[in-house]
Amino acid sequence: MVKAEMKVIQVALTVSRKEYLTPHYIRVFLTGDGVSQIADTTIGVNNKILIPPTNVDRVYFPEFDYEKGQWKAMDEGVRPTIRTYTHRGIDLDRNEIWIDFVAHGDEGPASAWAMAAKPGDALGILMKAGRTKLYEVADNYLLVGDATAIPVLGAILEDLPSSAKGICMIEVHSSEDVQRLNTKAEIDFIWLHNKTPQEGSSLADLVKIRSLPRQSKFAYVAAEFSTVKEIRNYLRKDLGWGREELYAYSYWKSGVSEDKSAVDRRSESEEINA
Ligand SMILES: Cc1cc2nc3c(=O)[nH]c(=O)nc-3n(C[C@H](O)[C@H](O)[C@H](O)COP(=O)(O)OP(=O)(O)OC[C@H]3O[C@@H](n4cnc5c(N)ncnc54)[C@H](O)[C@@H]3O)c2cc1C
Repeated sequence: MVKAEMKVIQVALTVSRKEYLTPHYIRVFLTGDGVSQIADTTIGVNNKILIPPTNVDRVYFPEFDYEKGQWKAMDEGVRPTIRTYTHRGIDLDRNEIWIDFVAHGDEGPASAWAMAAKPGDALGILMKAGRTKLYEVADNYLLVGDATAIPVLGAILEDLPSSAKGICMIEVHSSEDVQRLNTKAEIDFIWLHNKTPQEGSSLADLVKIRSLPRQSKFAYVAAEFSTVKEIRNYLRKDLGWGREELYAYSYWKSGVSEDKSAVDRRSESEEINA
């Protein structure tokens, strides 16, 4: 049976400028004819970035085989590296969108690309068309993430009404990497510092020692695999939070590239809901 086609935006953009928000955080602005196609999407949703191989100056998009549910094979010489990021902002007057990258070194193609990015560099974007609900409405929020989650947590914080209350715990490299996140809500911010997130994090320990909301609550958790698993188990099994009161997804897995850890990360999130 042929599966229904999801409407996907596919645009080839180029870097217009970039800015270090903090020593380990790079905002890359992208421009091109396709920017207007992204206007009717939600800030904070994930996108796929397609990085062309070195010495290839344009993006060759893979084709999706809807019948087989997989990408069609591509010539190695032009095949882009694909990673998942977050749609962080758009300015139609300037014809730009932007994506915020953790600069975690050059062992990862996406981090390396952002660190080296210069005006004119090509980047492909794939994302779902239309609006998406990022979080559930509640009176009390628990927002937990490492540096990779700052874009989505930042988008949620910007969207929360002034009546919302909550705690936001974010782990970054050092005090210099703390960002100002705008919100109308009444949020207690806690910033943790961790120079070696590949070697573990104390985010889960911090969640466990905090007094958490009991009623009308929603948690958004996005961080490294082990941290997300521990926090999900704590909230769901130890505290008995309902499935609909939590969105938790691992954004990366230590020691494994994003494409190789995708299956593990997805099945961990599905396990507890099975
Ligand atoms: C839905 C979703 C949204 C995301 N949004 C963002 C975003 O907006 N900004 C962002 O920066 N990241 C985001 N991420 C995380 C990002 O996809 C991963 O960090 C990805 O691994 C980066 O790709 P890479 O090519 O740099 O490294 P990879 O080739 O995937 O990995 C190379 C090595 O680097 C390690 N590594 C990967 N990420 C980190 C890290 N953050 N710190 C330390 N070591 C790391 C890996 O464990 C591996 O050993 C998102 C992930 C998901 C699933």
